[in-house]
Formats: sequence, C-alpha cells, structure tokens
Amino acid sequence: MSAVDESTPATAREMLRRVWGYEDFRGDQAEIIGEVVAGRDALVLMPTGGGKSLCYQVPSLVREGTGVVVSPLIALMADQVDALSALGVRAGFLNSTQLPHERASTEQALLAGELDLLYLAPERLRVPETLALLDRARIALFAIDEAHCVSQWGHDFRPDYLRLSMLHERWSDVPRIALTATATEATRQEIAARLQLEDARHFVADFDRPNIQYRIVPKDSPQQQLLQFLRAEHEGDAGIVYCLSRASVERVAEFLCSQGIPALPYHAGLDREVRSTNQARFLREEGLVMVATIAFGMGIDKPDVRFVAHLDLPKSVEGYYQETGRAGRDGLPSTAWLAYGLADVVQHRKMIESSEGDAAHRRNLGHHLDAMLALCETVTCRREQLLAYFGQSGTGPCGNCDTCLDPPKTWDGTIPAQKLLSTIVRLDHRRQRYGAGHLVDILLGRETDRVRSLGHTDLTTFGIGAELDERGWRGVVRQLLAAGLVGIEGDYGTLGLTEASVAVLRGERQVLMRIEPGRRRAPSRSSGG
Ligand code: ADP
Ligand code: ZN
Repeated sequence: MSAVDESTPATAREMLRRVWGYEDFRGDQAEIIGEVVAGRDALVLMPTGGGKSLCYQVPSLVREGTGVVVSPLIALMADQVDALSALGVRAGFLNSTQLPHERASTEQALLAGELDLLYLAPERLRVPETLALLDRARIALFAIDEAHCVSQWGHDFRPDYLRLSMLHERWSDVPRIALTATATEATRQEIAARLQLEDARHFVADFDRPNIQYRIVPKDSPQQQLLQFLRAEHEGDAGIVYCLSRASVERVAEFLCSQGIPALPYHAGLDREVRSTNQARFLREEGLVMVATIAFGMGIDKPDVRFVAHLDLPKSVEGYYQETGRAGRDGLPSTAWLAYGLADVVQHRKMIESSEGDAAHRRNLGHHLDAMLALCETVTCRREQLLAYFGQSGTGPCGNCDTCLDPPKTWDGTIPAQKLLSTIVRLDHRRQRYGAGHLVDILLGRETDRVRSLGHTDLTTFGIGAELDERGWRGVVRQLLAAGLVGIEGDYGTLGLTEASVAVLRGERQVLMRIEPGRRRAPSRSSGG
C-alpha cells in the first residue's frame, strides 16, 4: 500500500529491519506508527498476537526521548526488557518487585537520556516522585497497554488506570497510544472517554483468526471427552487446557499424565519457582500440555500452540477470545475446543452473586456471561457470532467451526419448556424454589425421598416429562438459561421465571433447541402438553 508507505517515515521501516529483522509491517502497524511518530494520539484494537508491541516500540526509537509504557503485567516486564535488550534496544522498568538500587539505576539511565523504552506499573504513577522523575525526563510517547483495564465494566478493571487521563493533562504535547485486544464498541468508547482520547484515530484490526477452528460441545464426562479429543486430533501437540479452579487444574494434569500425555499444572497457588519452571518448559519443549487457570497465558508468545481446550465455561466472550487466541499464532490449523454444561452456569451465577462490587457491577458480569452462553448455544456460525460481538458484522458463515461443519439440527422445544416453566410456577405458588436437579426429578416422576417429603408428587406436572431423559431435560434447562427464558439465582442455583418466560407459558413464543450430538432424538410436537 503506497499511501501507507508515504505516511510512515522511512526511518520506522529501517528500524523494523535493522533492529527486529522483520521484512515489513503487518496490518495497520505502519499507519499506526506513522500517526504516533507524527505526534498524534492513537487507539489501537488488535487481537492478541496481532503485533501491538511494535506499534509503540518503533515510534519510541524513532522519536526523540524515552517511550513510557504503562502496563499492568508486572510479571512480564523483566522478560520484555530482556528481549528488547537482546535486540540492542535500551529498555528498563520500574515496578514494586525491584530493589532500591535497581530502581535508582533505571531512573539515572532515564534522566541521562539513555533509555529508549521505560516500562512502568500503573501504581507507580500514584507516587509523586515518579511524576517528578518523568517531569525531568524527555518523553517520546506514552503507551497505555491493556487499555481495557480502564473499563469499570470490563473483566480486568484496575482502579489505577482511571488515573491515566492525568498523563494528558500533565504532558499535553506528548502523544499517547492506547492498546487493547478487547474490542467491543462499548469498551472502545469507554477507553476513549476515560483516557481523554476523543481526538485519537481509532485503529480496529480484523479480529478473525481463520486458522482456528471453534468447537463447543455439551459436557458430560469432561476428562474422558478431553482425552478423546486429544487422542483423536492432537496427539503429541502442544496445547493449553483451561480449568476454572486450582483443584481441577491439578486433577486434570495428573489425569493426563496417567494417560501418557505429558502435562504440567499452572495456577496462582503454585510456588513461583514451579510456575516459572513449568512455563519455561512449556515454551521450550515440544508437545507439552499446560493445564492452567486463566492466570496462565498473558504475554505468552508460543507460536505452535495447536489447541486450546476449555473444560469450564469462560466468564466472558472477551476472555474466551483471548484464551483461544493463544492457539495457532503461526497461522497453521489449530483447534479451540470447549466443553460446557449446566453446572458451569450455576457455578458462574453463584460467583457473580458473591462477587464484590455493587448491583450494577454484578448485572454487568451477568451480561458478559449471557453473551458467552449465547455463543455456546447458537445454531449459526460460531465465528460469525464471535466477530459480530467484536463489532465485525456480516462476515457470513465461516466453514471452519462446528456449527458450519455439522449444522445443529433443531427441534421445537416449546412444550418441554412450558412443562418446566409451569413446574416453576406451581412451586412458586407454594413459595418454593428449586434447582434443576429437583425440577427434573419432578418432571420425570421420580419418587425420591425429597420429592415425597416435600409433597411434590401432588404437583400436576409430576411425571409429565417422560418424553425426555435426564440428559435431555438438563439440555432443555441449559438452553432456556442461555436464552434468558429461565433465571437462576442463589447458592443452590434455584430456577425462576424471567420476564421473557411469560410469552413461552402463554404459547406466544416458540422455543427452538439444538439436538445435541449423540443424544436421544427429542420428540416432535405431537407429544402434547
Ligand atoms: P500482541 O502484543 O498484539 O499480542 P505482539 O506484539 O507480542 O502481539 O506480537 C506477536 C508476535 O508477532 C511477536 O512474536 C512479534 O515479534 C511478531 N510480529 C509483530 N509484528 C511483526 C511484523 N511486522 N513482522 C513479523 N513479525 C511480527
Ligand atoms: Zn462457522
């Protein structure tokens, strides 16, 4: 693109070749760099692995002074600085992990004009001495990495990020570049507003990762399902398996090892040393499977991760996209595989309810979860839905996700939905609420001790659900939850009606459901109700 060439100073491309040894810029890099080198602000939305770092590193070298990079990833700063030093770039960092003399020597280098890049933890800016230090230095630009951390509604909120609008007020002539891999329209607007980047040009990259195949399956025996998936498709491949809890990380890692699949655990409860050894082994050795909580992965740059498997539901589409995005950075075919079930939904709701923060915050977490559930239950192309979520709509079916490759058949689940909802209504009249398990017992007419002692054999809906089995009913509950047609709350995940349920009960709304692979075919409408 010649227009791009003209707006990007020749020195930037020269730097790219000389320092990094790369032939050319990718995507919007050249244009973004041109903008910042010219002293203007930029807001960059680019997926993980898209090449955000160069967007501020190159201008820091081209412009006079030091590029100051604000980043919350303290654990990665030393590595980033080492990597830059290896390229001959003069870089340093200031954060709480340093010894006083290390900090002092970095400060000295900054003041002497001997740093191209300075990485800074956001909390450093709370300290007046840091501000005074920056006042005395020559600053080439401010880069605000992981800029979505400024979003109070996002999944990674850091209060210190709110302070960053101060950069603009205090150093108004220094260009700023904010970068993130989170790209919903709402987040983008919030970043622009909170960081006072209203005049910045926005660069929104293509979020599609065509080499990643997206697949989401109903979960019944997660470890066996995972094993089957790995044996069938990823024997000997490196990959990441995400679990929600530390305990399940340990369990799954042990299980894989016992099955002859080399696996390592990674979670925040492990010793620092164990963590860094495991991480280093995963990066260096071939064919290792990292079983981890989401504590693992930020900033990990391993090109040949062939699969990312989720054994538990991620809490947002942003999280899912970021985690799955660690697969296939080399562009070769890779798989994003997720198993999820009703218990995941119950557990997430529980976590949301017990989370800190006010009602609005919890509502927001709920919306994030709903969007994730909608992705799980969609009967159309997963990629299309994923990209639409990030603001890229109308891409059409992709041909490389499970719903495209094996289109889900749907069935009319209106009657089972009505049966379930009317059971909830009848219990509601008795001022009682129950979780999915008990409701399914009632529908299947199971005379369990609990059912009998609560007198639930008397309900008119007792035993009217014989057309489906236990799994079938759990699938119905899950799909109703995903569609917002039942609500769930409390420690026990009790089910209740939502505003939308009423239309289903009145027969004004049809409910289409997926027929799940390997399951008994659901009955047709004729079963009556
Ligand atoms: P992000 O921060 O967006 O996740 P990175 O900046 O870490 O991505 O870049 C991801 C990988 O792509 C890195 O290995 C980086 O060196 C490489 N990369 C970035 N830009 C280019 C380019 N123009 N040419 C070749 N490789 C690049
Ligand atoms: Zn598709």
